[in-house]
Amino acid sequence: MKKIPLYLQILIGMILGVIWGLVAVKYNFVEFNYDWIRPFGTIFIKALKLVAVPLVFLSLIKGVTSMSDMAKLSSIGGKTILFYTLTTIVAITLGLLVANSFKPGDTFPQEKRAELLEQYKHKTENIKAQAGEVKKQPALQAIIDIIPDNIAEASTDNSRMLQIIFFAFLFGVSMVLVGQEKVKALKAVIEAADAVILKIIDIIMLLAPYGTFALLAGLIVDFSGDAALFQALAWYVLCVLAALLSLVFIFYPVLILIFKPFKITKFFREMIPVQLTAFSTSSSAATLPLTLSKATKDLKVPKNVAEFVLPVGVTINMDGTGCYQAIAAVFIAQVMGIELSIAAQISIVLTALASSIGTPGIPGGSIIMLTVILSTAGIPMEGIALILGVDRLLDMCRTVVNVTGDVTIASVLGKQQLTQ
Ligand code: ASP
Repeated sequence: MKKIPLYLQILIGMILGVIWGLVAVKYNFVEFNYDWIRPFGTIFIKALKLVAVPLVFLSLIKGVTSMSDMAKLSSIGGKTILFYTLTTIVAITLGLLVANSFKPGDTFPQEKRAELLEQYKHKTENIKAQAGEVKKQPALQAIIDIIPDNIAEASTDNSRMLQIIFFAFLFGVSMVLVGQEKVKALKAVIEAADAVILKIIDIIMLLAPYGTFALLAGLIVDFSGDAALFQALAWYVLCVLAALLSLVFIFYPVLILIFKPFKITKFFREMIPVQLTAFSTSSSAATLPLTLSKATKDLKVPKNVAEFVLPVGVTINMDGTGCYQAIAAVFIAQVMGIELSIAAQISIVLTALASSIGTPGIPGGSIIMLTVILSTAGIPMEGIALILGVDRLLDMCRTVVNVTGDVTIASVLGKQQLTQ
């Protein structure tokens, strides 16, 4: 396996995983798959998640402290927020355009509607209960939530990444304010620790082909019973895929062509392993280690920019998620026979934007926020049952877009810094 490039190894793993999954379903090895194959996928994802918190923490501190002064930091920080917000708005608007033009809800068989609402009733109730907790909080809760009251506790939960980012940012800024001389030793420790974490990631990535094999096999086995559901939701799935593909193959390439950080072919070549990992893990946080190393080592995004922009992007920039949420909301409204006014559609843009900032980069991270989007736009939350059956697959696809968007913006900002 040694001489085959990583992305090919992962691709082979995925293809073999699909083949094995089909064999397991056909010849009834489902239990064998559950006992002896699936665990390797779980081990791979757990190992990647294991390094997510220390990696975000260390790389963000490194990114912040490598800025020469506060003016530079606030300039990069401001541009990062601006670019992330604008690209997410484009993605959500694209989602709305696709859903309103192709009307996936109109082809949905109505008899399936009652069936799905019943089938996923229990799951929907759970999601609604969690969303209810989110809704009952004060308007500024989102800001309150960014500030951890105990950093040790915050570090125990991958979904609290925004809190880790906050602390790492504060720590880095304070190191700059204390002055180079006093923090010299601490900086050396942080750099050494970061190098160790990156080495751990190299080791974990040796597992990637086997992990993706197991993950894809598990997925095929899970979906094998749901062929009819797929048929009913085919047009919806196609709409989401078309919109996500347009982001990856049109929108980001246009940005790369305009800002010219590197050749477009190089971008696609180097992004493949990152995208495959995002696809198989459904988690931008779990993919971050690879995203960072690809961006800095192969795409040559300046380290100080990548180490600042990428860890932040994993949590606050989710173009794929925003685009998907817009289509899902309009689809559910169409199936439920609800006409969405312009005001309701604008509310979808705004809530999806806010939700993409707060959504953790973990599998299914955005589902709870989707209920908030639905209720703000006046769409019954129960409707979420209609799309849960295919959410896992679409989660994999939107995560690919999320990480591609992060690297695109990091590359654009890196290029801008170099030319200044
Ligand atoms: N799984 C997505 C990510 O990690 C988040 C989501 O859309 O659920 O980027």
